[in-house]
Amino acid sequence: MRFANQIRVALVTALVVASMGWGPVGAGAKTASAAFGGAVTADATAKATAPATAETTVAVVPTITVAAVGDMCFASSVGSYVASHGPHAPFSAVRSLLTGADVTVGNLECALSRRGSRVPGKAFTFEGPPRATQGLTWAGFDLVALANNHARDYGAAALLDTVSNLDSAGIGHAGAGKNRSAAWRPAMIERNGATIAYLSFCQIGPSDFAAGRSRAGTAYTLNLTQVKQAIRSARKQADYVIVAFHWGIEGSHGVTARQVRFGRAAIDNGADLVLSHHPHVIEGVELYKHKLIAYSLGNFVFSPGSAAGHDTMVLSVTVTPKGVVTASARPVYIGANGRPSPAKGSTARRILGIIGKATRGRKTKTHVSKGTIYFSR
Ligand SMILES: [Zn+2]
Repeated sequence: MRFANQIRVALVTALVVASMGWGPVGAGAKTASAAFGGAVTADATAKATAPATAETTVAVVPTITVAAVGDMCFASSVGSYVASHGPHAPFSAVRSLLTGADVTVGNLECALSRRGSRVPGKAFTFEGPPRATQGLTWAGFDLVALANNHARDYGAAALLDTVSNLDSAGIGHAGAGKNRSAAWRPAMIERNGATIAYLSFCQIGPSDFAAGRSRAGTAYTLNLTQVKQAIRSARKQADYVIVAFHWGIEGSHGVTARQVRFGRAAIDNGADLVLSHHPHVIEGVELYKHKLIAYSLGNFVFSPGSAAGHDTMVLSVTVTPKGVVTASARPVYIGANGRPSPAKGSTARRILGIIGKATRGRKTKTHVSKGTIYFSR
């Protein structure tokens, strides 16, 4: 959400100091250096508290904060709830967890359209009301992933109408479009003067949802080379790159070897954050090379198909170009009509336990304070 100052600090003359008031998680000494492409990155609020060692001209890439959630589907009971209570209603209990971030992001797991018809032979097909976009904007969503196994449930017309409805609402989107080029193109937004590229890839079939040269569809791919190329290309255009994968095994808290391979390769090729979904349950958070991979953010606005599918989280990350400064999550419970609320009491403790166990399995440390779980190396 566009809350922070929209200041573009292109080039400033700054004192390069030996110590600044921040640093990437697990980076040891919190030391700014000129090793980042010849530029020093600095939090605009950082104070020069140590003696100056040099004076130089540096590019300042501002810190950004990101709030991330998993699957949002406005079909079936959620669609009925939006019809009876309005588009804000699904988000009314969690809006305060989402709007404060510079960038709020999630997965849109349905068409938002009245067009099209169900793809024959598919077990679950999702289409929700177009005015659900009003709820998404009200809740602060800046970017949604469209590369998933439901984007084309009602065919190309509904997919393209969804894209058009998101455009009209001013919500950025990546991972689907009128052809392969559109589906693979990053969404670009600017926050605090930093440019952010967002890419979305799907690894869950049907594979014929894939966009083609002149066919609407998603960025469906199992090709790591192509994913690496897309991320490297986005990296050249942006200060930050956020990548969403729709992947993994439904109902499993465990991470597959392919998730690890693609997630880490995304970071190795320029992603700052990998924020992923599809299993419908929480999987671990991994801090890797000072960057972050959320293997599954679970459901968010969704009628869960299992008990575990009610448990979820809002992930909050503060990131500089050198890495993650802070990462934490608040436990959320999805109630009737797929509506999320901040979890309380024993439910909160139970969900925090699930997040903690899954995350420690990713060799990332956790600690809980005042109902929030923090991640560190
Ligand atoms: Zn899915």
